[in-house]
Amino acid sequence: MMNEYTPPHAEQHKSHRAGWLRAAVLGVNDGIVSTASIMLGVSAASANSSTVVTTGIAALTAGALSMAVGEYVSVSSQKDSERADIAIERRSLVDNPDEELAELTWIYEQRGLKPELAQQVAQQLHDHDAVAAHARDELGIDHTNLAKPSQAALASATSFAIGAIIPIVVTLVPGTMDTLLIIVSSLIGLGISGAVGAYIGGGHRVIAAARVFLGGGAAMALTALVGHFVGATI
Ligand SMILES: [Zn+2]
Repeated sequence: MMNEYTPPHAEQHKSHRAGWLRAAVLGVNDGIVSTASIMLGVSAASANSSTVVTTGIAALTAGALSMAVGEYVSVSSQKDSERADIAIERRSLVDNPDEELAELTWIYEQRGLKPELAQQVAQQLHDHDAVAAHARDELGIDHTNLAKPSQAALASATSFAIGAIIPIVVTLVPGTMDTLLIIVSSLIGLGISGAVGAYIGGGHRVIAAARVFLGGGAAMALTALVGHFVGATI
């Protein structure tokens, strides 16, 4: 009977969260930049305030849905290939059990175990759960925790919407200069999400914030310029 194990050490690891947090920060950045840019483009074409708000809501909806669909499709194909790899492994364990045991032994030797110990460990893990051992140590897959397309799609759409809502909400404040508020609120949002992204990734917060700030600012300025010229021409 496996005994319940509580690790003695208190340190909190972060890297297992890094993946989806980084995706969430990217989603927020995407939401802010694309929605604010579209709204500024329409506003520069001298559209009235309610048109700008409607445009923002349309941009949020379209962006969130396309992010969700894109994420769902890409994570589904990742899950499909994980499943296919595990099926291949499962079949090979039946067809060539000795080769598979030798392969696992070799993997442990590469990781620094002495040949006898590597062989013992491989044998014991084979006896315990051969598929799990090969999935984990050969393929790097946790077969009890495969990719989750729906979760990823939802997280992606939500983070995009959180970013996109910023420039929309500020335009709802009555009697204010939409364009200026869109720019200021979006740049503040970008600065914050840039710093958060750096914190997660262990990067330099000010540099990361400046990078997102400048990149996002440039995208908004260029779209406003295009909107202005198109508005003046059509
Ligand atoms: Zn194998």
